[in-house]
Amino acid sequence: MVSSNKPLLLDTPFEKWDWDEVPRYRREQVRKWIFEKGFLDWDKMSNLPKSLKSELSQRLDLLPMEAVKVQGSSDTTKKILWKLRDQQLIESVLIRATEGTKGVRASRLTLCVSTQVGCALGCKFCASGLDGLKRNLSTGEIVGQILLARKEAGRRIDNLVFMGMGEPLANLPALLPALDTILSPEGLGIGARHVTLSTSGLVPKILELANYPAQIRLAISLHGGDDDTRKKIMPINERYPMEELFHACEQFIEQRKKMITLEYILIKGVNDDLKQAELLAQHANRLRAKVNLIPYNRVEGLDWERPEIEQVKLFQKTVEAGHAHRVTLRLEKGHDIDAACGQLRLKENNP
Ligand code: SAH
Ligand code: SF4
Repeated sequence: MVSSNKPLLLDTPFEKWDWDEVPRYRREQVRKWIFEKGFLDWDKMSNLPKSLKSELSQRLDLLPMEAVKVQGSSDTTKKILWKLRDQQLIESVLIRATEGTKGVRASRLTLCVSTQVGCALGCKFCASGLDGLKRNLSTGEIVGQILLARKEAGRRIDNLVFMGMGEPLANLPALLPALDTILSPEGLGIGARHVTLSTSGLVPKILELANYPAQIRLAISLHGGDDDTRKKIMPINERYPMEELFHACEQFIEQRKKMITLEYILIKGVNDDLKQAELLAQHANRLRAKVNLIPYNRVEGLDWERPEIEQVKLFQKTVEAGHAHRVTLRLEKGHDIDAACGQLRLKENNP
């Protein structure tokens, strides 16, 4: 059982590990054990002297979390429920690109990462926000999910999407140092183009992120074609209405010279009429954005439903007809294991 009051080593980026009396090459050995071999256990670091291992282990914790449930799905999606050192629960999801997906190597592995325990933004359709925000994750808890999920998968992770529990942009002080470690060749060495942050639209934070030096990708959870539709399901729209959001997106795109993605979940009878599809196409054109349509995943205890497949296809066709850029329909991943993020935790907390 992980539980401790000691500081977590991974909360400090490795360039800042400050062990005065420890020679540099020893720190380099520790770095390699962690980031190259994925060992989060002082005892396993066989080329370190016993005395040093014992000293470091008394001062610093290495293991941020442990898996309490791994749920495999028939479509090769694997969901991991982690227990943190203070017993809070979070989730990560490993998603293997299925064979035959257009333009994608058959073996590409994506990890969906959490950034908070719960979420304060309370979108009406989302399992993660049901109990509000418990706390932010620390840098080490963000990096730890990737290191431990990589071990669980037994191979390298190609893509990261910050689409797990929580609002990544509400936790930038922990997330930005985590990104530094994730992107660094001496850390996890994942290319910035393979990292996507998803946000429900925290306007000032989008502008802040525009100044982050690496070329990470940004996805905006839109889920409505107009303010009235969007604010019914996303309370954040009251604080940052769509025009303000688009303005921030335009600034981000201008500064980064980078395309963004508009995510749009389709909920039956709420945001799936063709008028919304036309509006979505207009917004995507204005922003030159890609569009990712996601049929809603049912959440236990919530009444929302996904539209019939015919309506989904019609919606997609309407967006495509009005829109010059790429429109994708996110095909089902992990439906049989409660794919909507936050669900495993929800069940564990309310069995
Ligand atoms: N807080 C961020 C990132 C986490 S949610 C955000 O909202 O963007 C990641 C994505 O999953 C968002 O687009 C969110 O709207 C979507 N999502 C949440 N619940 C869902 C559900 N039940 N079915 C399908 N997508 C869902
Ligand atoms: Fe939070 Fe994103 Fe869920 Fe909304 S969709 S409650 S922002 S995690």
